[in-house]
Parts: sequence; structure tokens; C-alpha cells
Amino acid sequence: MVSVFSERAAARGAWHPTALLGVLALWLATLGNLPLWLALWALPENHGWHAGFTLGGWAVVLLGLTLTFLSLWVWPRWLKPVGLVLLLTAAVASYFMQAYGVVIDPTMLANALNTDAAEVRDLLSAHLAVALLAGAVVPGWWWWRQPVRTVPLRRLLPRQLGVGLLALLVATGLLWLSFQDLASLMRNHKPLRYMVNPFNTVYAATRHTVGRAAQAQQPLLPLGQDATLAAGATPNAGQAPLIVLVVGETARAANFGLGGYRRDTTPRLARLRDEGQLVYFPHVSACGTNTQTSVPCMFSGQGRRGYDADVRQETLLDVLQRAGLAVLWLDNQSGCKGVCDRVPHFDTRTLHVPGLCEGDECFDEVMLRELPGQLDKLDPVRRARGTVVVLHQMGSHGPAYHKRTPANVKPFGPECTSATLQECAPDHLVNAYDNTLRYTDHFLAETIAWLREQQRPTALYYVSDHGESLGEKGLYLHGMPYSMAPEEQTHVPMVFWSSGGWPQHTNLAFHCLRQRSTEPLSHDHLFHSVLGLAGVQTAARQPALDLFRPCR
Ligand SMILES: [Zn+2]
Repeated sequence: MVSVFSERAAARGAWHPTALLGVLALWLATLGNLPLWLALWALPENHGWHAGFTLGGWAVVLLGLTLTFLSLWVWPRWLKPVGLVLLLTAAVASYFMQAYGVVIDPTMLANALNTDAAEVRDLLSAHLAVALLAGAVVPGWWWWRQPVRTVPLRRLLPRQLGVGLLALLVATGLLWLSFQDLASLMRNHKPLRYMVNPFNTVYAATRHTVGRAAQAQQPLLPLGQDATLAAGATPNAGQAPLIVLVVGETARAANFGLGGYRRDTTPRLARLRDEGQLVYFPHVSACGTNTQTSVPCMFSGQGRRGYDADVRQETLLDVLQRAGLAVLWLDNQSGCKGVCDRVPHFDTRTLHVPGLCEGDECFDEVMLRELPGQLDKLDPVRRARGTVVVLHQMGSHGPAYHKRTPANVKPFGPECTSATLQECAPDHLVNAYDNTLRYTDHFLAETIAWLREQQRPTALYYVSDHGESLGEKGLYLHGMPYSMAPEEQTHVPMVFWSSGGWPQHTNLAFHCLRQRSTEPLSHDHLFHSVLGLAGVQTAARQPALDLFRPCR
């Protein structure tokens, strides 16, 4: 009797499932979207009474759309877990939007899903813990403990769908009233559209999953099946050329000493340039604003406009290998993103070399130490024709810039050592970042010094995968959608050095290359230029995009 009574009392205090859904929608539309509302409030066109009124209206629109969205697919069975996931997603997305100025789009999500443990460690901070506590743990605890009434489906279905429809009507009505304002706002401030929780993450996750599923079902498309070595490229014994392609990480052209930056971040490369065998290309744009896009794109031969991440296709390395050359990829970062799957590759972060590695991270010089041994393992028949090596740098990977440089290569100080970048004094942040470029200068110069000892034609081609924001316009890190990315994220440094002594038809005129360096170039040139340099003939190579062609 007592138990029946208390059950009834509990049922009376328990939530109707649709009402609890309304509470979740209310949280998501308001506190769960704090960065969005702060960004909207900070816009110059939003001020005064009118703005408060407009923002209030949009909050109701967002509440209506969220409630419609939730009422369509969140039924009692998965009400609690879905609520927890949405609270956590909104909290994490909000933190990164607020702390680094990033937005959540499909490539940013793909990037996040490919993040490894070391990268996550670099992002952890007390601020993140507070954000998670306030945005997910406390509301999540409350959410989980709420009693929910059992409502028969025949009664729940019309009620919940009715509420969803009503919410949709209110939202569209208000949207219609303020459409002019909203449309011009979204046009003028494109990042805002990627800031709406949880729709940004749901959209990105759907796009990502659909893309991956489509890709998994595709056969691998061949590329350059006709690839052969040009007759004149066949070397004499012991004179097989060696090309080292360095894929930089997060180096931006704006801070590159060779490009005229106020600080000398590249003194050793500058000396090599003065000797005449090194050219710096100051007008190079990247294919993407993150590793996940740029690295596959630059090896795809499709160019930025033609590149489709959902298409499975062979890469530059497959074409070089098919032509008969030896190919090797050494990786000191988060992997080659599928580019090196069918050629010999090695992850140098597994080496644990004392003095060069700590935990599962190594300074880039570890690749140079490993290179001779890995080259010896390659097929000698191929090596006798020529070798192309890719070194994938850790470079300037943020936000823990200070971890990228050994203690003896830190000319600029004091350094920012916090993962919460906006907490650091701007000049301390730039100091830590500039030190990473100084270390890249050191790494590239050491690689060139090693190449010089090889007694055969050698070349080094360096280009960064994308740039970086260091607090300009409130933005940090990288990964902005390309169309709205600031130049700091898309303008990258590129360097070419050669020992000379190449087979007759590839010998390069440096005065001509210096002339070419004044032209606008991009990642689109990499595929075709490396094929040209390696003496590979194929219909896949577009001579117009071979930056060396006019100089041979
Ligand atoms: Zn990158």
C-alpha cells in the first residue's frame, strides 16, 4: 500500500518526456550556445534596444528549431543518453569556439576525429575542465537524475509531434519576420553559420559519415597508369638522384624570415640562399587550412578546386613508384592521411631516441637520423633509378608550440607555455611560434647538409601544409573553412634547394627559378613539379603546373 502510494507520488513529480525534451532544447538554445550569442552581441551592427529585441527573437527561433529537431527523433528509450551526448557535444564545441575562434564544419570534425592522444594532451587545460564541468557534468548529472513518466506511445506520438510542429511554426514565423536581418548577417559573417550548436556538429558528423561510407565502397581509382621514366632521366651508376620532399606543419609565410619577416627566423636558409642554390617562393597558397585536407590534396594532382576528399584515388607517390623509382615516407606527425598507404613508410615517433624523443613525440631531426637506415631497406633496383623521400614534419604544430623546439633552439623568449593561448601575452605566443620556425630552419639546413654529402644529384622541396592564426581577429590555430579563412592560415612558405649536377634535361637554371618565385603559386604545383623533377612522364602531369619546366 505504502509503495503504491509513493510510486504514484513519484509519477506525479516525474517529467512528461516531451516536457523534459523542452528543457534540453532550452538549455541548448541559450547556455549551450553561449559563444554564438556572445559573437552576435559583439557585432557592430547589433547594439542598443533593437539588438536585444532581435537577439531575443533569434533565441526563440533557435529554441523552436532545436525542439522540432529533438521531437522528431528523440523518443523515451534514448532520451537520457542522447541528452548527455548533446550536452557534452555543445560544451566541447563551445569551448573550442570560444577559446580558439574555430568553427565546427565537416573538415574540422574530420580533423578532430583524427587527433591522437598526444594532440589531445596538448589541448587539455584547467579552462577546458571548467567548461566541461559547467557545460556537461553538472547539467548532465541533473539530466540523468530526472524521473520520467511512462506515457503510452499512442498518446506520446501525437503530443510530441504536435509540440514539434508548433515549435516549427513559431520558429518559421519569427524567421520570416526577421529574414532580411538574418540573411545579411549570415552573408557578412559567414563563420556564424558554423557556430550554431548542436546543428553544426550534427551536420558535420552526417557529412563526414556519409562521405566515409561512400569512400569505403569505392574502388581505388588509378592515377598515371602510363607513368615511365623519361629516357634521359636514367642515371649513370651511383648518380641516381635523391629528392627530399619536406611537408611542413603549420608554418605560415607571414613569420618566415626569408619572406621578409621582422625577425630572423630562418638564418641558415638565408645563408644557403645567398650561396645561390636555394630559392624562396613568397606567394604560395595552401590547398586547405588543416592537415586532413591539405596533405591528401597536395599529393592528389587534382588541385584545390578539383580535390574531393570523398574520392579514393592513387597519389603522387603511387605514380612515382609505378615509374620505377624508390619511394619512402617518414612520418613524425599524425600519419600520411592515406597518401603513403602503398609505398614504404615509417613512423619515427615510435623510436624513443633519447634526447630527440619524449613520450610518443620526437623533434623533427629524428627523421634525419632514421633516414639512411630506411633508405638502405628500399629495393636496390629502384634506388639505382632514383629515390623520392617525404619527410612529414611535426613543425609548428600547436597549441603547445613550446614543445616543438629543443632547449638549445629557443632564441626568442619568454615563451607562452599554456594551451589556453589567449591567456598568454601576445608576444610570448609569437616567441614560442617563431622558435618553431627557427627549428624548422635548423632542420631543413641539416637535411641539406646531409644531402650535400651524398655524392649524387640531390634536391630538397619544402612546403608547409597550411598556416596558423596567432590571435589576429581573435582567431587561434587553423582550420577555418577556406572561403572565410584569413590569409595567415592559407599563405605558406615554400623553399627549393638543389645540389646541381642533375641529369642533363632536369638541370635547373636558378636565375630562372628566382624569376618564377615572383609569381603566385600554390599546392596545386607540387604534384606536377615533382613528377617533372623526377623525370617521370605521364598524361597525369600537366606541364603548365610544373614550376620547374620553364627553367630546365
Ligand atoms: Zn597541418
